[in-house]
Amino acid sequence: MSDSDIVDAARKFARVFGETDTASDVASALACLEADALADVLRACGRDASAEAWLDFHAEADDEGDTHWDRHGNSEEY
Ligand SMILES: [Zn+2]
Repeated sequence: MSDSDIVDAARKFARVFGETDTASDVASALACLEADALADVLRACGRDASAEAWLDFHAEADDEGDTHWDRHGNSEEY
């Protein structure tokens, strides 16, 4: 697999997973590291707003002291 194949795959991933409908259904099931990794790919592909939406939906399931706890309650904005 060439670098351009990887870039194409990352862009496709970001386009598909950039849908906030998916984030609201799935993000709460992710571990903090998984949510951060997904958000990193979205940001790298220029989808910063989608990355923030994923982390906010994910944060709803975080417990106090977890990585994204300080974002808890932000998902109502989307
Ligand atoms: Zn988290």
